[in-house]
Amino acid sequence: MSNAVLNNKTREWQAMSREHHLAPFSDYKQLAENGPRIITKAEGVYLWDSEGHKILDGMAGLWCVAVGYGREELVEAASRQMRELAFSSTFFQTATPAALELAKAIAEIAPPGMNHVFFTGSGSEGNDTVLRMVRHYWTTKGQPHKKVVISRHNAYHGSTMGSASLGGMKEMHEQGDLPIPGIVHIPQPYWFGEGGDMSPEAFGIWAADQLEKKILEVGEDNVAAFIAEPIQGAGGVIIPPDSYWPRIREILSRYDILFIADEVICGFGRTGEWFGSDYYGIAPDLMTIAKGLTSGYVPMGGLIVSDKLFEVISQGGDFNHGFTYSGHPVAAAVGLANLRILKEEGIIERVRDQTGPYLQRRLRELADHPLVGEVRGLGMLGAIELVKDKRSRTRYPSALGAGKLCHDHSFNNGLIMRAADDTMIIAPPLVITEAQIDELLSKARLSLDLTLEDLPR
Ligand SMILES: *Cc1c(COP(=O)(O)O)cnc(C)c1O
Repeated sequence: MSNAVLNNKTREWQAMSREHHLAPFSDYKQLAENGPRIITKAEGVYLWDSEGHKILDGMAGLWCVAVGYGREELVEAASRQMRELAFSSTFFQTATPAALELAKAIAEIAPPGMNHVFFTGSGSEGNDTVLRMVRHYWTTKGQPHKKVVISRHNAYHGSTMGSASLGGMKEMHEQGDLPIPGIVHIPQPYWFGEGGDMSPEAFGIWAADQLEKKILEVGEDNVAAFIAEPIQGAGGVIIPPDSYWPRIREILSRYDILFIADEVICGFGRTGEWFGSDYYGIAPDLMTIAKGLTSGYVPMGGLIVSDKLFEVISQGGDFNHGFTYSGHPVAAAVGLANLRILKEEGIIERVRDQTGPYLQRRLRELADHPLVGEVRGLGMLGAIELVKDKRSRTRYPSALGAGKLCHDHSFNNGLIMRAADDTMIIAPPLVITEAQIDELLSKARLSLDLTLEDLPR
């Protein structure tokens, strides 16, 4: 947007941004030049910016606003809890009804044998907690050498030192000498980007076998755990080939190591099941949660811990770890109300049986577009690969920034899609209707058309 046409309020806010606000994952020079788009209100699946534009939120905020914006029940739950008990910690043998009731409600929907919940303030803190907990587990079990965690390139597990190390984002590792010791990475199951001439099935087996190779290289006696998102989200909505998860399970059953599913995106219905682990039948020992847990209305994360793990760590004395806001009563009250909405309104079943399949069918119609090399997705997750040549899966030179062009066109046409390099991503609120999916798809197609016009033939 050209600055001259913006209203005074927008310009004032942009000045505040330039002068005072350090935004996450931002180039500060660029941000100062362009100014941020200011989002001022939201309702359902729509946002409004400070210029009055209505925008369809194809990303549910940052994958989190499952039940949509403006839900009075969540506002009520928060204000009721704030009036009654705004804060009380769960440290040193204390608790609050809200934290306990949410832990129970989570255990009820978690896979069998996963009945214990540790709360954090975010997904990153959840994964830092996981890292410490799996090491504590093996030490308590008398196997203190088992410390190494195996993860995957291009995984996203958060932004703290521990969680960014668990993640496999090259640009993040380059800033601040990551990963920290004791974390190693294997290739990701990203057939479209890295599968070469292999069939997706063969590539899935190859990618899974890299886990076994790494376990043998590091030594089973030194490996604590393997961590993975059921579907990589920030990495580009990477749906593994069908052969991948069964092979990983097979490998994990041969070795005595723990399996951590990072459910921060997949959890709470995004795949049409409560957890991505349910969809793939991958039976983890720990699951990291956040985002959809509270629909993003207030920050909260945590981990769900199996009975097997709990039995060991409950013999280990104090777990010397926690956050001031672990089990925050207001967040817990909102989480409870959010789970109630998801259940009572049958939102996840609707994603599984109706709106999810509809979104996937409509998305795949984009495959005929000259710019589109592949469309994939599951439930309320989708990815559109932008390419110069469909058959050979050749990208445009990265300097052209095809993904960013498409993102900007999309935003200007009233739709938020995210770009992971040249992979366009969507993850709309789970409550999106079929008519709103139609709107999303027509805006996405228009953005592809405009992007194609901008790129050299
Ligand atoms: C967003 C995300 C995280 C980090 O959660 P924060 O709440 O931002 O700390 C961790 N894992 C996955 C898979 C995520 O998408």
